[in-house]
Amino acid sequence: MKFVSTAGGASVGTISEAMLAGAAPDGGLFMPDALPRFRISDFDGLSAPADVAAKLLSPFFAGDPLEGDLAEICEAAFGFPVPLREPVEGRPDMWVLELTHGPTAAFKDFGARFLAESLDRLGDPERPFLVLVATSGDTGGAVGQAFQNARTARAAILYPKGRVSPLQQRQLSCWGDKVATFEVEGDFDQCQALVKSAFRDEALNAAFRLTSANSINLGRLLPQMGYYASSSLEVFRKTGAYANYVIPSGNMGNGVACILARAMGLPIGEVVLAVNANRTLADFFETGKYAPRASVATVANAMDVGDPSNFARFAALDAEAQGEVSAISIDDATIRARIKADAEQYDQVWCPHTAVAAEAFERLPASERGKPWVVVGTADPAKFAEIVEPEIGREVDLPASLAKVMSMDCRVRPLTPDLDALRDGLKAAF
Ligand SMILES: *Cc1c(COP(=O)(O)O)cnc(C)c1O
Repeated sequence: MKFVSTAGGASVGTISEAMLAGAAPDGGLFMPDALPRFRISDFDGLSAPADVAAKLLSPFFAGDPLEGDLAEICEAAFGFPVPLREPVEGRPDMWVLELTHGPTAAFKDFGARFLAESLDRLGDPERPFLVLVATSGDTGGAVGQAFQNARTARAAILYPKGRVSPLQQRQLSCWGDKVATFEVEGDFDQCQALVKSAFRDEALNAAFRLTSANSINLGRLLPQMGYYASSSLEVFRKTGAYANYVIPSGNMGNGVACILARAMGLPIGEVVLAVNANRTLADFFETGKYAPRASVATVANAMDVGDPSNFARFAALDAEAQGEVSAISIDDATIRARIKADAEQYDQVWCPHTAVAAEAFERLPASERGKPWVVVGTADPAKFAEIVEPEIGREVDLPASLAKVMSMDCRVRPLTPDLDALRDGLKAAF
């Protein structure tokens, strides 16, 4: 299988090369040149997410240096529970897929761990890679955790000062000396621009063997199909119906993973992308025109994206593969109100991102009800306690993984948003 750039000018022959490259050299994003098709019966006897993922991903790894390791990589990446909660009383058509039980309590653990396991097998301990990543919150923590014990890679994380939650900040900066964390005097867009300029600097690239772990990397996106495949099979086996999904969305990586799994033949019906006040996707699906804009800060900060990077991947699909997709935008006041209402009425406590999806579910027209809808839970509410607790009027339980982070040593390096400062910072750190 070949992997071609959405910008049309570049391709590579293996998924390993696509993972090592991150973005394509022509500025586009790698996509498989054809989507393999499965029958539902191909998955008979498989239910664990790691097993389903290994089956689903096998065509992409055929002939790749990592082909023989794929099952092990999936075991490691999916090495924690991925519960699909059945409907609670009063909400008969709402299922909840909890992607929040990984070590950093957000769904980015799956992609980050899959990528780390892959890169670590491709690298050289004598000349380690440096994974450089800009984060608005959850990506950096997941990447730090995933790479803390890598043998052939190190990681540098850039986050915008004052824009991440207190717990996220600890999670970004507690991973020991293989992971350097920079607090940037600027916003997320400046962090991202700085990372991009580092990738364009050939000397810096060569000196540090830079590689990327943002969701532009196919090695983060494809494994995310695994939990859509396993959960849709579970719904189908239990109800005989296709599963429809409501997905909290920012850069659209999680949404595109679901759309790809559907195009590959999994029993998935409609896909609703739930976005915060950053309305770019909602406007696109309403008007057909894609108009990126600057991001605005919201209570669902991991979704504060005005120009979703994975939109290019969606746009590269033909109409049949794109299938039925819609999007809806929810403002902060409504997110807060949904957190409060669902805690009171159903004893369901959401993080602000998941609450965007819960609200989108509530707004489905009556004609869309009566079939299974899966609301995707993207982070544990304890990560955003300062937003959630005032709404529900009590403390949220801290999962063990997060409690552990609270007691670990943290180290943050201040950084001005400029390439010389970053170069000096990296030299000092490694
Ligand atoms: C990253 C993130 C999202 C958005 O996911 P995309 O793949 O960027 O659309 C939603 N919720 C949480 C908690 C996240 O960390």
